[in-house]
Amino acid sequence: MLDPLFPSPLHGRLHIFVSEKASGIGEDINLIREMLIVKPIEGGCLCGAVRYRASGQPYGITHCHCRTCRRASGAPFVTWAGFDTDKFTLIKGEPTSYASSANVVRSFCGKCGTALTYQRADLTGSIDVTLGSMDDPETLTPEDHTWTESQLSWISLGDQLPVYPRERKVE
Ligand SMILES: [Zn+2]
Ligand SMILES: [Zn+2]
Repeated sequence: MLDPLFPSPLHGRLHIFVSEKASGIGEDINLIREMLIVKPIEGGCLCGAVRYRASGQPYGITHCHCRTCRRASGAPFVTWAGFDTDKFTLIKGEPTSYASSANVVRSFCGKCGTALTYQRADLTGSIDVTLGSMDDPETLTPEDHTWTESQLSWISLGDQLPVYPRERKVE
């Protein structure tokens, strides 16, 4: 059952905020995060028509095995990192958008097709970005696997990360 105040995003990225607010130390943690940020993340599509920059601490980094991510990307699963929307900037070109669900918009390069972002209409303060489109995906570390109830049988997970049948569970 979803908490109406904090609806669970498909990729499970909101939960950090929930626990911080609950513990009353969210402001301090955000301050520390800002201090730790040294280098923005940049990325873009295969053909180079679309480029972006994201700053701030990414959160909810997950391998999503849901069917929609699979079909949208053409890959067995997609790895996402959440950013505050105001810290995500397009620096070149304009991606094409597609509403993959009633309240979900995905963006991709209209020329080469690279999947770029995922955003929920009811959570406009946050945007998920594909690690595969980043210039240096190795700088981020995935936290878990989500929507594994849709995981393909020939994908074998050996990374010991937490596994969630659907979205990440709220503590
Ligand atoms: Zn492109
Ligand atoms: Zn997904």
